Amino acid sequence: MANDPISLPIIRKLIGFDTTSRESNLALIEYVRGYLAEFGVESLLVHDEDKRKANLYATIGPADRAGICLSGHTDVVPVDGQEWDTAPFEAVVKDGKVFGRGSSDMKSFIAIALAFVPRFLERGLETPVHLAFSYDEEVGHLGAKRLIEVVKDMPVKPAMCIVGEPTSLGVIIGHKGKKKVRTHVRGHEAHSSLTHEGVNAIEYAARLIAFIQQTARKWQKDGPFDEECDVPFTTMQVGLIRGGTAPNIVPKSCVFDMEIRHLPNVDPEALFDAIRHHAKDVIEPEMKAVAPDAGFDFEEFDSNLALNTDPDEAVVAFVKRLAGQNKHGKVGFGTEAGLFQQRAGIPTVVCGPGDIAQAHKPNEFITLDQVRKGEAFMARLADYATSERLAGGA
Ligand SMILES: [Zn+2]
Repeated sequence: MANDPISLPIIRKLIGFDTTSRESNLALIEYVRGYLAEFGVESLLVHDEDKRKANLYATIGPADRAGICLSGHTDVVPVDGQEWDTAPFEAVVKDGKVFGRGSSDMKSFIAIALAFVPRFLERGLETPVHLAFSYDEEVGHLGAKRLIEVVKDMPVKPAMCIVGEPTSLGVIIGHKGKKKVRTHVRGHEAHSSLTHEGVNAIEYAARLIAFIQQTARKWQKDGPFDEECDVPFTTMQVGLIRGGTAPNIVPKSCVFDMEIRHLPNVDPEALFDAIRHHAKDVIEPEMKAVAPDAGFDFEEFDSNLALNTDPDEAVVAFVKRLAGQNKHGKVGFGTEAGLFQQRAGIPTVVCGPGDIAQAHKPNEFITLDQVRKGEAFMARLADYATSERLAGGA
C-alpha cells in the first residue's frame, strides 16, 4: 500500500527465512549479501566452525573512518509447542501489526537498516555506518563472540554501537551479565553399609548448594543494589543436578549447573570466588581426608557480559537524539552489547523498535507504528551521518 513503511518488503523477506537458532542462517545471510552487493557494498562473512552459520559485517560509506555500528542478531527462538494463529515464518500484516517470528526480536531493526542503505549511499556519508548481523544470539551469543574478535582488531573499528534489540526505542545503557558454572563433584564409591569409607558426592554437592542459596539470600538482603535494574540485586541459583547410581551405592559423582545474573557494575569473578573458596577451603579438606582424589572442579559455560555504559558517553546523548528520547534506562534481558562495550571497547547502547514483551511468544508482532518510528530513527541517523563527521573518527 502507498503508506506502508519502506522497510516492509524486507521485513517480509527476513521473516520468511526460518532462522531458528538450531538451523543454518546462511540463506538469510546470502540474501543480505546479495542485496548489499546490488548497491556495491561488500560484506565480510565470519563463519562458525562447521560453516553452517555466518555473521555479516559491512561498511557503508568511507571505510577509513570510524563510524556507527548497527548490530543485530539474525536468529530467532523456536516456535515448537506454541499456538500460532498465522504461519510463523510468513509476515502477516493485520490491524496495524506485522505478525511473524522475529518481527520484534529483531528482524525489523535489521530490515530498517537495510532499507536505508540506498538512502545512505545516495546522500553520501561523512560518517560510515557499519552493519553487524550475527547468528546464535538466542543460544549464548555465539556468533557475536566470534565476530567481536574480528571487529576489535580492525584497523578502523566503530566509534560507537547501537544494538537494535526491541526497547520500544528506549535508550538502554545497562543490563545484567550472566555467568554459568557447571560443578563436578568427585566423590569416592563404596557399599552403602560402609558410608564412612566413601565420599558421598551428592551430599557434598548439597553442602555447596546450601551455601549458594545462603549467599544468594544475603545478596538479596544486603545488596549491592542498583535501583535502575528491575530486579535491583544479583541473583543466583542452581537449576540442574545429576548424580549417583543406586540407593545402596555411595555415589562417586554429582554434577550441577548454577547461574549468576549479576548487576552491571559487579565483577562476576569476585562473586564466584566466594563460592569457589567455600568449596575448596571449607568443604574439600573433609572429602580429601577420606579419599585424596575427591573434590570439586568448576567449568564455566555460556556466559554473557553485562552492559554498563557511562551515561556521560557521547553515544548516550547521540542515540537519545536519534530516538527522540530524553531518558535512559536499564533492562533485565541480556544482549551482545556487553561484548561490544567490554571486549572491543566500543561505547554501546541498546535501542530498537518493537516491544520485548512480544518477543519469544506465539503470535509475536511489531506494530507498524514502531516500524515507522524505527524508520524515523534511521532517517535521523542518515541526516547526521551525511552532514557530520564523528569526533575522533578521522
Ligand atoms: Zn533478541
